[in-house]
Amino acid sequence: MRSSFTLLAFASLALRVSANCMYGTHLHRRQEGTVEVSNFGYSGTQGPVNWASLSSENSACTSGKTQSPIVLDDTVSFAEEAPKVVIDNVEEAEFENLGTTIEVIVNGTTSFAGTDFSLAQFHLHTPSEHRINDEYFPLEMHMVHEAEDGSIAVIAVPFQLTEDGSTTELLTAVIENLADIETPGTATKTGALDFTELSDAIQTKPLFQYTGSLTTPPCAEGLTFLVLSEPLALNVATFNAIKKVVKFNARFTQGSLGETNLLEVATGTFQDLQIAINGNATEPINNEGDKADENKSESETKTTATSTTPQAGSRTHSFDVSTTITLSPDRACKEFGLLCSAKFGRRWF
Ligand SMILES: [Zn+2]
Repeated sequence: MRSSFTLLAFASLALRVSANCMYGTHLHRRQEGTVEVSNFGYSGTQGPVNWASLSSENSACTSGKTQSPIVLDDTVSFAEEAPKVVIDNVEEAEFENLGTTIEVIVNGTTSFAGTDFSLAQFHLHTPSEHRINDEYFPLEMHMVHEAEDGSIAVIAVPFQLTEDGSTTELLTAVIENLADIETPGTATKTGALDFTELSDAIQTKPLFQYTGSLTTPPCAEGLTFLVLSEPLALNVATFNAIKKVVKFNARFTQGSLGETNLLEVATGTFQDLQIAINGNATEPINNEGDKADENKSESETKTTATSTTPQAGSRTHSFDVSTTITLSPDRACKEFGLLCSAKFGRRWF
C-alpha cells in the first residue's frame, strides 16, 4: 500500500502532464468533451531517453528504480490469486487518438487482493512494452484501474500474430471506425464490444505481478502491474491497421527492479569519463586525426589513484577511490560501450 506522501506526489504530477497511460484516473483527470494530445513522444528529443528533460515532474523517468516496462521471467512472481473481472458488454464506446496511443473508455470492476479497482480505460502499445523471457510481442493492451484509495492497477495483455488468421474479436470491434481517428486529438466510437474472451483469459491464465511505474511521463512509481503470461491471438489485418495509426509507442525495457536507473547509469558513466578526459588529460589533443590516437599507448594499468603516473599519450580516469585506469581515448570508448554513441575526444563514435 502506498503512503499518503506518494499519493500526494502523484496527484500533483497529474495536473501538469498531458495524456498518458493513466489518463482518466485521479493521476490525470479526463477533460470531458475534449481529447487531450500528449506532450511527449517516442522519437528524438521527445522520446523516452529524454522524458526527464521535458518537465521537472518527470525525474522518476531517469532516477526511478522500479520503472516499467521490464523483462518478465522467473525472477518475477505470478499473482497468487486470480482477479475477478467484470466488464459489461457495450454497443459502442468512446475511442480516442491521444497522439501517443489509441484509447477506449469503458467501465468495469476488477477485484484483486481484497480491493475493488474501477476500470477507467484501456489503450494499446505497439510493439509490446513488457517482454516475456526477453521476447517482445507485436501489441500490448493496458487496462488501467483505480481503487477508491487512489491505488492504481494495470492489467497488461500481450497479443501474438497468428498464422491461421484467428484473432481476438474484441480488437476487431474496437477498430471498426479506426479510420475516423487517424489524426491525434480526434475521437469516434468503437463497434459493439464483448469482453468475455478477454475477461476469461485474465481470470484463468497465470499473471505476472510486480510493482512498477507509469510507462509514460511522469514515470511515477507504485503501480501494481498484472501481466498476462500468455498472449492472445491477433490477425495481421487488425495489427497492421492499429500499427498504421499508433505507429510506435513502446518505452525501452527498463533495468531490473530495485537497480539503479539505466539512464542514471549511462549519464554517470559519461560524466565520469568526460571529467577524466577534460580534467586529467596528460597530453595535448592532436587534431590530426584518428590514426595518431590508435598508435598511442593503449596500456591499461590498474592501481591506486594516488600512485598512478599516466603514460604519455594516455588519459586517466578514476572510477572509484581505489582504481585508476589509464588508457587512450579510443581504447576507453571500446572498453565502455555506453560511450560509443557520444562525442568522445575529437570524433564521433
Ligand atoms: Zn500504457
